[in-house]
Amino acid sequence: MAIPIANVGRQNAALKEEIADAISSVIEQSAFIGTAHNPFVQQFERQFAAYLGAQHCVGCANGTDALEIALLALGVGRGDEVIVPAISWISSAEAVNTVGAKPVFVDIDARYYTIDESKIDEAITPHTKAIIVVHLFGQSANMQLIRQIAEARKLFVIEDCAQAHGAVYGGAKLGTLSDIATFSFFPSKNLGGMGDAGCMVSNNNDLAERCRLLTNHGQKEKNNHRMLGRNSRLDGIQAAILQVKLPYLDNWNSLRQKKAQLYYSLLANTGLILPEIRPESQHVFHLFVVRAENRDQLFHYLRNNEIEAAIHYHQPLPMLEPYHAEYQSYVYPTAISQCAANLSLPLCPFTDDAEIEHVCNTIMKFID
Ligand SMILES: *Cc1c(COP(=O)(O)O)cnc(C)c1O
Repeated sequence: MAIPIANVGRQNAALKEEIADAISSVIEQSAFIGTAHNPFVQQFERQFAAYLGAQHCVGCANGTDALEIALLALGVGRGDEVIVPAISWISSAEAVNTVGAKPVFVDIDARYYTIDESKIDEAITPHTKAIIVVHLFGQSANMQLIRQIAEARKLFVIEDCAQAHGAVYGGAKLGTLSDIATFSFFPSKNLGGMGDAGCMVSNNNDLAERCRLLTNHGQKEKNNHRMLGRNSRLDGIQAAILQVKLPYLDNWNSLRQKKAQLYYSLLANTGLILPEIRPESQHVFHLFVVRAENRDQLFHYLRNNEIEAAIHYHQPLPMLEPYHAEYQSYVYPTAISQCAANLSLPLCPFTDDAEIEHVCNTIMKFID
């Protein structure tokens, strides 16, 4: 039984007709490009903002652009520093470089894998402009403390919510607790399109307006260029597909949580370190990441048994080649030990319970 890490195919098969109808409507209206008048894009933006309880959602081409545009909207650029957690997908740091600023990496928390808020203060310099918080693997960072630090030190906060659609902290949806939040709708995210797509979310009218101008060459309306921007628009077909999928998101997240519970009970006595859930938050298990002492052997054992385990991530961001020369003198002990031991097990709303049982039985055989 071959088991993929996430079964996007099953999700799309279940919605095939609804999605085909939605795409047909876009074709009938030739509403392909995400300008201000695209009804599919407008509707999705309104629906996603309402879902989160946010004032504004601005679609864009992908989650990496969303981070860049958020930084530009906040005026972050050359000479500025931005605090970034040492573990994330590269976009969280790369976007900082792309706008000409410098990422300053902070180690992660040993229990929750999000940025270690106790180490943020010592990373702040007179050049620091913002903190990028990543809600990693579907788990909220400690937003209360991070917001306190940001307020005290007059820093902007960006939430990178690419792995946390629908996750909750202290009763609020993630994406509503910062100056600007960014989302990716990459196909395998908790809410994913059928191609690249992303958005920015904000409760601040001016910042949302700046984000919108930046996505479309600074145009307020056609040929009225208020500033320089770029082309990073959410397209009509992706918006129509996302509109079909959004009503299912809460149910999919609760399926992820149920399947995670099955892992917790079946793996309880295996010696694997299972994910811890931050109090006052709802984890949406974008990934189910365990820690194993002999991770590499277990990874290959599972792969040899057609189970697609994965490693998130192989190295802390500051150790990646583009950053290494600059950062080798820094130490990120928690990030380094997390990278040596982490293993993501198959989990998505469409992973069968029988598949999870098979994964756990295979892990048990490895341990014996
Ligand atoms: C997926 C992801 C992104 C980037 O999204 P793209 O749409 O692929 O550009 C950014 N940050 C995190 C944490 C992600 O997981």
